Amino acid sequence: MSFFGNKNRAPSRPKRSPTPNSGTLSRTNSRGSASNEEGAISKPLYLCSPFADSALVKGNFKTIVMLPKYVDITEWVAVNIFDFYTHLNEFYGVITECCTQQACPTMSAGTNLNYLWTTQDRKQVLLSAPTYIDSVMSSIQTLLDDENVFPSKSGQQFLPTFPATVKHIYRQLLRVFAHIYHAHYTEVLHLRSEPHFNSLFAHFLAFGWKYELLDVKEIKGDINAPVGVGLLWERWKNTGILEA
Ligand SMILES: [Zn+2]
Repeated sequence: MSFFGNKNRAPSRPKRSPTPNSGTLSRTNSRGSASNEEGAISKPLYLCSPFADSALVKGNFKTIVMLPKYVDITEWVAVNIFDFYTHLNEFYGVITECCTQQACPTMSAGTNLNYLWTTQDRKQVLLSAPTYIDSVMSSIQTLLDDENVFPSKSGQQFLPTFPATVKHIYRQLLRVFAHIYHAHYTEVLHLRSEPHFNSLFAHFLAFGWKYELLDVKEIKGDINAPVGVGLLWERWKNTGILEA
């Protein structure tokens, strides 16, 4: 199913989440990367087993992103955008006290990668992560509340600009996911939320891929400034969690 036209492209008893205890976490740095004995940073924890594959949903996300029968595709995209925004906002709300001006002076999402915020007069500025994320979430909330952009009454039409608007929202939400994985995965592990967070992100990626809301360049980043979660996307494609 294409949203924008042609596409180019039970265990016997519940297991506890394999979250490390405080002893294990003492071998991680503040960015949630595992370190070797010399202290050199190796793979980030979100790319390491078992955390990378910890999920609430086992198997592939193909079924849950499929357009239900008799549902308009635009309505389906709109309601899913609303859900992704709401759930991500809740996750960020839990870790917000760790995402401060001091801890996160830039909107970091990988080695050498700091996202810039585009102002209304098209200037690119460096913001701290909490300021950047507050701006993202407020601007998306404003769009969601706008009846012209996200009509809630039956029979009301979506604007022709709706596809461009939702692609923009998707790009910004991806950046928030990327920052949380890069800078706050340790907190996610402390809360034993990694199966929830991974499942939300995998669902987000699967949906974005299916309806062409994702820009591959945004997930992978530049060769000199790769997006950390780009490797997670690759891993999940290799393991069959996401469609290749
Ligand atoms: Zn942060």
